Amino acid sequence: MSLPKNNPNPSRRSFLATAAVAASAALVGLGARSARAAGANLPHLSESDPLAKSLGYQSKAKNVDKSKFPTYKPGERCGECRFFQGTPGQKSGYGGCQIFAGYSVDSDGWCASFNARS
Ligand code: SF4
Repeated sequence: MSLPKNNPNPSRRSFLATAAVAASAALVGLGARSARAAGANLPHLSESDPLAKSLGYQSKAKNVDKSKFPTYKPGERCGECRFFQGTPGQKSGYGGCQIFAGYSVDSDGWCASFNARS
């Protein structure tokens, strides 16, 4: 049995649809990576910013005032927080933060909104 040229068989159609979905997913992935990279270029969040102050943000987690923010646990840092928009597990440098829109935070920082990545 031969199929007309303008009526590709179902397996070819399925392959083309899968390829289109994969290409779209790759483009979305690239966009997400670019957005993360852009987050690193945002102004650095100041510890004296009113919201940052209320959440105890410190650009170096080791400087967190544990008497005011007893939920802090050693090892918690922005790079390990689900709100961090840099590279997951990032060890240095800055990245965006969903809590502090328009600013970047130090991957070694911390605030009371810390929420570990699952
Ligand atoms: S929400 Fe997470 S990433 Fe943002 S400043 Fe607080 S600890 Fe860092």
